[in-house]
Amino acid sequence: LYLKRIEMRGFKSFADKTVIEFKQGVTCVVGPNGSGKSNITDAVRWVLGEQRVKTLRGSKMEDVIFNGTKHRKSLGLAEVKLVFDNSEQFFPLEYEEISVTRRVHRSGESEYHINQMPCRLKDIRELFMDTGIGREGYSIIGQGRIDEVLSNNKDERRMLFEEAAGIVKYKHRKLETEKKLKNTSENLLRIQDILSEIE
Ligand code: ATP
Repeated sequence: LYLKRIEMRGFKSFADKTVIEFKQGVTCVVGPNGSGKSNITDAVRWVLGEQRVKTLRGSKMEDVIFNGTKHRKSLGLAEVKLVFDNSEQFFPLEYEEISVTRRVHRSGESEYHINQMPCRLKDIRELFMDTGIGREGYSIIGQGRIDEVLSNNKDERRMLFEEAAGIVKYKHRKLETEKKLKNTSENLLRIQDILSEIE
């Protein structure tokens, strides 16, 4: 999946509208300490539905809104938009591009959009489920995450590879089908009982 562009406005240190275009291949972001490099990945996590303020390195959700500097007033709104290329139909939607937007007001009110259409946070989470991109995905490897993965037990590590292989949804479906089969067998047994009573 190709992330083409990030647009931010009022998000953390990005007070003005900032557009970051990603060309095909590898992109490196370099800059002095505290210049806002990690704020870019925070922006991505946030749009993908991150609700844990600690993961976003804040203490309350409002902390993602530009809170002013010596020379500039704080803002009342933060907005981030991710634009993905969908020319190969990675997402099962008939659009060449998929944009996902999240907005939060200082009042606490939130808004979510997929291709400019208002939606729920749940819809955004579902869009990214099993893609490895979602909130719990492995597409953002933060500082310390590699150590965490290496020290995980083998079952937890396996889950990471299963998500990468895209088989999580099939495992879920298998579990659901097994549950239905169990219910059906129990129903059949009950019918057998009734039949033998009648006979
Ligand atoms: P390092 O190389 O040290 O990891 P970095 O380039 O990744 O640094 P970030 O951690 O992304 O830098 O950015 C931190 C900067 O973002 C700090 O200067 C902080 O003041 C600023 N910042 C964070 N939240 C806000 C906010 N809500 N409003 C304004 N500025 C903010």
